[in-house]
Amino acid sequence: MAINKPKGTEDLLGEDALTWVYVRDVAESVFTSYGFKYLEVPMFEQVDVFVHGLGTATDVVRKEMFSVYSPDGYAKISEGRADELKPDQRLALRPEATAGTVRAVVEHNLLEQGGAPVRLWYAGSMFRAERPQKGRLREFRQIGAECFGTADPAADAEVIIMFMRFIEQLQLPRESVRLLINSMGDDQCRPAYRESVAAYMREHKDELCEECQRRIETNPLRAFDCKNEACHKIMEDAPRITDALCDDCKAHYEQVKHYLDSQGIRYEEDPRLVRGLDYYTRTVFEVQVTDGLGAQNAIGGGGRYDKLVETIGGKPTPALGFASGFERIALALEAANAPLPVPAKPDVYVAVAGSEVSAASFDLVQKLRDNGFIVECDRQNRSLKSQFKLADKCEATTVLVLGPDELAQGVVTLRDMLTHDQKTIAFADVIQELEHVLGYDEDHDHECCCEDDDHECCCDHNEA
Ligand code: AMP
Repeated sequence: MAINKPKGTEDLLGEDALTWVYVRDVAESVFTSYGFKYLEVPMFEQVDVFVHGLGTATDVVRKEMFSVYSPDGYAKISEGRADELKPDQRLALRPEATAGTVRAVVEHNLLEQGGAPVRLWYAGSMFRAERPQKGRLREFRQIGAECFGTADPAADAEVIIMFMRFIEQLQLPRESVRLLINSMGDDQCRPAYRESVAAYMREHKDELCEECQRRIETNPLRAFDCKNEACHKIMEDAPRITDALCDDCKAHYEQVKHYLDSQGIRYEEDPRLVRGLDYYTRTVFEVQVTDGLGAQNAIGGGGRYDKLVETIGGKPTPALGFASGFERIALALEAANAPLPVPAKPDVYVAVAGSEVSAASFDLVQKLRDNGFIVECDRQNRSLKSQFKLADKCEATTVLVLGPDELAQGVVTLRDMLTHDQKTIAFADVIQELEHVLGYDEDHDHECCCEDDDHECCCDHNEA
């Protein structure tokens, strides 16, 4: 019986795996320049981290979390004794990493009083039991960043700009990317706004889908995100948060926009942008792509969550962050024909002619790799002809042949796979000769003519 991967998961193979490493590397280089430090939090946490962190009314907590049980915990569940599970037996695979990051920041007391903001970034798998479709998986990878300890609107702008620089560095064309921003208000102004949206929805209850009818009492702002055409139309005329912001939130939002403007960052204000999780306050943003993703066009989003650290047991701490979905970024890069990494070709293929040279070829391959060459070598005692075919297949342009005759003479045969020219090289000269053949010596071997009084120097250091 063939065993397949679980629904909604992907094996990252070949170029896809390289793309993941590449996108992470780009994130690392951009985020590091903004002072963000890498962290890893567990793939699973006590379920309370997500319940408190994300909120019980969110889709993620209500319908999308995968539970994790130890054998003991599982026994209690199957015997109908779920209420006996201790908190550390009630675990869930992380549906996102912000709540876990906050838990880690609180648990390790990273926020010293009066200390500098703590800036962290992460990359890894998240798990949501969703209906899989293009760009929507059950295991997907997110790259995200969180900044703790500052309410300054400059920090909001900085995080948004950092995200946009990341996208820029990935060479997604700017014209195919939309940055949407909004403010969701805070404790002072959001409750009244939420109520005004709920009241508006009650007036139109019969026209809303079942899910949105339920949302009226639990989470009315989520109705702005409903994909149902009728709900979408009704919510177009719902009260707008921008008309309901208190003075502090209005001033904060204006400042964020001012900082974005000052750096020439193009954005669109979308008063209907409400992020799916309960914890957001004030600034929220989303980055969408216009090509290649269909309905799942958000490649990332985030915002400020000034209440979350308290909710997870820390001291009141303003904070903000974002997460972006790797699989959607990869689809967008492909659709935009953006440059993607290609697998490295071997510098050299070592062909082994006969088992009596196994030990010597093992030494040779090791020596080449220790000197930085990418080396392929077949260890299946194939004929030379088949090894040349394999060398061609893996696109090695240079082959070193080692057989009993070569070994006896202390040489290897170097074969150019394009011209089929061959020459013999002494063991001692192999590294130097390969560097030469592959053009790696051009910079290193250049003898500086400034030592020679009669020459005009060609080196950069004399041009200064
Ligand atoms: P969220 O944590 O829901 O704010 O999502 C942040 C980003 O993660 C989204 O903009 C997507 O790019 C990505 N994302 C969220 N859910 C999924 C999923 N089920 N499959 C693939 N990517 C996702």
